[in-house]
Amino acid sequence: MELLTGWLNENGVKHSLDIELSEFSYMKTGGKVFVLIEPASSEEVSKCVAFLYSQNIKFKVIGATSNLLFLDDVDYSCFLTTAGLKELKLVDDAEFIAGSGHMLPDISRYALYHSITGLEGLEGIPGTVGGAVFMNAGAYGYEIKNVLKAVEFVDLTGAIQEYSVEQLKLKKRNSALKSGELSGIITKAWFRASLGNVSIIENKMEIYHSKRHKYQDFQFPNLGSMFSGSIYRALGNRDKYIYIMSTLFYLLNYKWKILRREAPLNRKWINDIIIKRLNLKYDIQPFSNKTMNCLVNRGQGTDEMIRYIEEIKTLTNNLIPIENEIVEKF
Ligand SMILES: Cc1cc2nc3c(=O)[nH]c(=O)nc-3n(C[C@H](O)[C@H](O)[C@H](O)COP(=O)(O)OP(=O)(O)OC[C@H]3O[C@@H](n4cnc5c(N)ncnc54)[C@H](O)[C@@H]3O)c2cc1C
Repeated sequence: MELLTGWLNENGVKHSLDIELSEFSYMKTGGKVFVLIEPASSEEVSKCVAFLYSQNIKFKVIGATSNLLFLDDVDYSCFLTTAGLKELKLVDDAEFIAGSGHMLPDISRYALYHSITGLEGLEGIPGTVGGAVFMNAGAYGYEIKNVLKAVEFVDLTGAIQEYSVEQLKLKKRNSALKSGELSGIITKAWFRASLGNVSIIENKMEIYHSKRHKYQDFQFPNLGSMFSGSIYRALGNRDKYIYIMSTLFYLLNYKWKILRREAPLNRKWINDIIIKRLNLKYDIQPFSNKTMNCLVNRGQGTDEMIRYIEEIKTLTNNLIPIENEIVEKF
């Protein structure tokens, strides 16, 4: 690492040393990272990656870490963050370029200010543009792939290239980058959407924003949905009693709203039934009261979190793709 830090100092590249991931990361878990490289431009990313490649130094690219579970007993060697890539400019009426370090809430609001429609559902996703393209982030029927035209990309040798949205093969929470078909770092994204009515755009954002607040845990650090699919449905397929009770819970509270006008603030009632029925035992509950599909950090440690993930995978016969990424030692 001395060789790397010496090179970063010589070349004036911003970096930080010995970062505690339990303070730095979104989920507030993990050991340390020895070197965090924080380039400020695509050219700097390219230079750093070319050096890392020439010295055969392994690294992990990170955005806002809002989808990453770092392990408590692992100290990581080197991360490169794109958080410093902050270019943002309008290139046409409904077309703009954003550096991959911009947060989705910021670019969605940038679109709103410019009467650009198509990003409303992305407003509450706490990730960067780079992280969002990596996994084709989306919500409420919106996906980044529908408003993306192309990206600037630094490959693992440091060469700067351009990829069209088609080349990225974006699918539901997947891409050529996530599947490993393509490796490198997204440094910029060209967005192309359409012009819309600013009040309608704002109204939609308000609705999604308040829905998110209602259905998403905000009490404990978490990474949003753990699996990209309904684990309630999958657990119901395994156990008839769970199926009947969760169907009733859904119909009465969310669809027909017979018991009350507003849907409940959490799913504790049905979660407790499932836990008992499947004989799941935890000293500290590893999931949110709002949904069992959201891992939360109540201080139970990452071994317990992984145990919960594995348990759900087994109970759902590995049929639902995992969305959160566990960052193993490299
Ligand atoms: C409360 C909450 C709600 C959420 N809601 C949603 C939701 O509704 N929809 C949804 O899709 N996701 C959701 N997420 C998950 C997460 O925000 C998204 O996956 C987001 O896209 C991750 O972006 P990030 O910058 O944090 O990436 P990180 O978590 O830092 O990284 C994720 C992956 O992307 C890679 N990566 C990051 N930046 C780049 C880059 N520039 N180039 C190449 N690879 C890169 C990393 O190597 C890593 O493999 C939610 C998370 C939370 C905490």
